[in-house]
Amino acid sequence: VQITVLAGGTGGARFVRGLLRQLDRSAPGAVVTVIGNTGDDAWLFGLRVCPDLDTVMYTLGGGINEDQGWGRAEETFTVKAELAAYDAQPQWFGLGDRDLATHILRTQLLHAGATLSEVTAALCARWQPGVTLLPMSDDFVETHVLVERDGGQVALHFQEWWVRHRAALPAKGFASVGAEAAHPAPGVLEAIKEADVVLLPPSNPVVSIGSVLSVPGIRDALADTSSPVVGLSPIVGGAPLRGMADACLSAIGVETSAAAVGAWYGAELLDGWLVDERDAGTTVPGVAVRAVPLIMSSVDATAEMAAAALRLAEETRHRG
Ligand code: GDP
Ligand code: CA
Repeated sequence: VQITVLAGGTGGARFVRGLLRQLDRSAPGAVVTVIGNTGDDAWLFGLRVCPDLDTVMYTLGGGINEDQGWGRAEETFTVKAELAAYDAQPQWFGLGDRDLATHILRTQLLHAGATLSEVTAALCARWQPGVTLLPMSDDFVETHVLVERDGGQVALHFQEWWVRHRAALPAKGFASVGAEAAHPAPGVLEAIKEADVVLLPPSNPVVSIGSVLSVPGIRDALADTSSPVVGLSPIVGGAPLRGMADACLSAIGVETSAAAVGAWYGAELLDGWLVDERDAGTTVPGVAVRAVPLIMSSVDATAEMAAAALRLAEETRHRG
């Protein structure tokens, strides 16, 4: 059994951890490929930082800060404090000492000529995440956010908008800078075409999944694949669970509801859409919708969500 998952950071990583637990029980030997968002990536102090890839790697490899959902467990911030003592900018991004080792090694390997796919595989050799983790592209793609300032519009890097401004500056839209010329990383299109099931976890639909879909070829592969594609709603009862996905949705004119996000993906991409019990009764034209508990309160609860997604995939497969 081959399962392919498109993922952002915290929501994607937690979902995949539950999926792996479920597969341990129901389909031992199943192979999972995660196609990770790299639109959040940034250069900071000369280092290439890939927050979503690292969140998946640390979460599945047992190195994550559980409370935060990102960054390393047992982290210290000596380097950050020393940089601040120089008044070095930016100071709003929380680079921990342990985490920095990952970014230093990644940057060294990139400078030596390795692709981001190769670097990610090298980092995963340590963490053994139990999945094949592929960046969406080896080309640099960065999400920028259009905001109004002084009567005009300026573009900020996604991280500056999200982390520094906590998504509080009203966004007018998003640009996936570099996407037009980007290619899917090796193995990405094959992982979608050859999968038995493709899952879209409850990741941010705009800046996580939407960013992956902005790489030419990936959306078409998803639309064309003969395997069932099932998504899980990140919006429960009209609000995102963690983070500020509502700010992203309103920027692109999509209502913050499970129905609107399902319709935004649409029947072109989705065969099935799982919503939370609270959103029972949701309909999406052309898509099979089921309501189950969608709160990732524990790994077991998340495994149940994954089981429901796999059941819905089988249902839609039989319906053809
Ligand atoms: P990020 O890159 O760290 O922002 O992580 P993702 O894009 O992968 O996931 C963020 C999304 O996960 C947010 O939009 C949340 O609404 C969603 N999310 C977080 N926790 C839960 C949960 O327990 N259940 C559901 N359904 N969605 C969740
Ligand atoms: Ca992210």
